[in-house]
Formats: sequence, structure tokens, C-alpha cells
Amino acid sequence: MLLVMRKTATPEEIEAVIQSVEKRGYTARPIPGGERTAIGILHNNEPVDAALFLSMPGVREAIPVTKPYKLVGRELKHDDTVISAGSARVGNGSMTMIAGPCAVESLEQCLTIAREVKKAGATMFRGGAFKPRTSPYSFQGLGEEGLKILAAVREDTGLPVVTEAMDNEAFDMVEHYADVIQIGARNMQNFTLLKRAGKARKPVMLKRGMAATIEEWLMAAEYILEGGNPDVILCERGLRTFAMHSRNTLDLSAVPVVKRESHLPIIVDPSHAAGQRDQVIPLARAAAAVGVHGLMVEVHHAPETALSDGGQSLYPAQFAALCEDIRKISALFSEKR
Ligand code: PEP
Ligand code: MN
Repeated sequence: MLLVMRKTATPEEIEAVIQSVEKRGYTARPIPGGERTAIGILHNNEPVDAALFLSMPGVREAIPVTKPYKLVGRELKHDDTVISAGSARVGNGSMTMIAGPCAVESLEQCLTIAREVKKAGATMFRGGAFKPRTSPYSFQGLGEEGLKILAAVREDTGLPVVTEAMDNEAFDMVEHYADVIQIGARNMQNFTLLKRAGKARKPVMLKRGMAATIEEWLMAAEYILEGGNPDVILCERGLRTFAMHSRNTLDLSAVPVVKRESHLPIIVDPSHAAGQRDQVIPLARAAAAVGVHGLMVEVHHAPETALSDGGQSLYPAQFAALCEDIRKISALFSEKR
């Protein structure tokens, strides 16, 4: 339930309502609003009796919340969330271009790619230092050395960096170096990791699990908001289906649904959806047209030698051409983003 306070409600009246909610064993979560304060009621196992609060001074109305993703849904917070990470903004009208290699391989590799993608128009750099690989024999990432390389890239280019935290063990370390902490598709329902992400002081990019419904995905985001971190970027990256012509099937229909259901920004990763370079550009264009707030694209200056996902990585020149296309498509639909 959402308790909406009157515009004229005093801080004492708001505090009294919070106390009254907490006294009944629920959690009161004040929701920032432009003109008036609203208070979300969480952790109620049964429906809340609105009459208990409607009689209190300063309370204007009580709105029932019907969705299980209370903090993530638009019932408690209608306005779009805009997330700041260094110089980058994600959400509400903007189109954020995130680019970089699958994995951090060396300082030279990352700087080469970062300078190219920045020139093309990227506003954030990506690269994994901890890599979730299907095979234990594949390159697992450089760990802390990789994170230090990302920090050096930020220093050199000014681009904020997004990188994955695979487990709670390394979370503090990733949080220290990253501007945005990525939770990968394979970890979307790692609830211990989600709880840790809820305590993080940095924005989290939550990728959709490879067989997750939209409701499961939004409930995973709910863990992070419930933990106290309001800054979650959702990332659609394709689902596992029977299709053999691409690595995954990009679910673009998720975008308007998520935008209807949630105030959180949503971006698309066409690279992990496609798994093949030739599909990345058309899928990225389609994602821009469907109204995403950003794209995350794998780019490598020498994909044939890449330690992971070379086959789906764009060459820098292709990424630059894609940025041109995306600017044009975004301009057509800018008021709808
Ligand atoms: C990645 O973005 O580096 C990655 C591993 O993607 P996903 O978790 O979507 O497979
Ligand atoms: Mn990859």
C-alpha cells in the first residue's frame, strides 16, 4: 500500500505516519516525490487496513499496490528513474552507449578499444575482469589486475566503467573499482548476491536470466531496491530458445512491457543475444527503435585474437557506424524513450 501525504503535511505528521506503520510490524519506505511525500508500506504479509492511516493528520489517500514488485513497479514510484554513473546518465530520454571488450585482457587492449569507442560516441566502457565461462578451461578473467586496468581506462578517457561481480567474495573489490556493477545473466537469481548488491553504493546493471520471465527479473531487481540501493539498470540480453541461428533470442517485446511496469531504465545487449557479429548491428538498431534507454555492445580492435566472445565483437569502425545509425533512430523517437 502507498500512503500519499497532503502537500501541506508537516515533517512531524509524516514522521507520525512512519512510526505508526513501523509499530504494526511493517516497514515504512518514504518515496521521494516532486510536490508531496508518499510512504510505501513493505513487509506486510496480509492486506493492510487503510482506515488505520487515513484518519491520521496529513494523510491524503491510500493506494493499494497490486504488483509483487513493489519498489520496482510504477505503482509506488511513477516517474522514470534516471541513474548517474560518473559522467554518464541512464534513463529518461537519453540513449546511453556502453561499449568495450568482453574481457579485460591487457591495459593496451583496453586503452586502444576505449579511445576508439569514446571517439565514436560511447559514454561508458565495459569489460569483464571476472568472467562467467561455461568451461573451466576458458579464460576466467584477470581479477583485480583487470579492475585496475579499468580504473586506468577511466583515468585516461574519463569514461565510467561497468564490470561484473560474480560472487559475494569479490564484491567489495568490484564495488571499489567500478562505476556500475554488473550482475550477469547466470546470477540473476543468486539471491545472496542480489542482497549484497542492495547494500552497494554504486548503481547495478542487472542482466535478465537466460530463461527468466519478466516477473522473475523484476523481482530480482526488487531484492536490490529492497536492500536500499535504488539504482538498478535492467539489461535484456536474449533468452535461451530452440533457435539455432543465434546464440540466444533477443526478446525486444520485453522492452515496452518493462517500461510500462517499472520506472527503472532498461538497456539491451545485442552482442550476447546474437552471439554472431553480423546480427549485432541490426538488433541494436531495432532495440533503439523499440525505445531502450541504452545499448551495451562488445567491441574489440582484433576480435580474431580475443580471449572471449571475439566472434560477436564489432570492429571499432563498425561500432562508429552503428553509433551514427543509433543517433538517427533515437532522434526519430526521442520523445518516446
Ligand atoms: C557479459 O556481459 O560479460 C556477460 C557475460 O553477459 P551475460 O551475463 O548476459 O551472458
Ligand atoms: Mn561476452
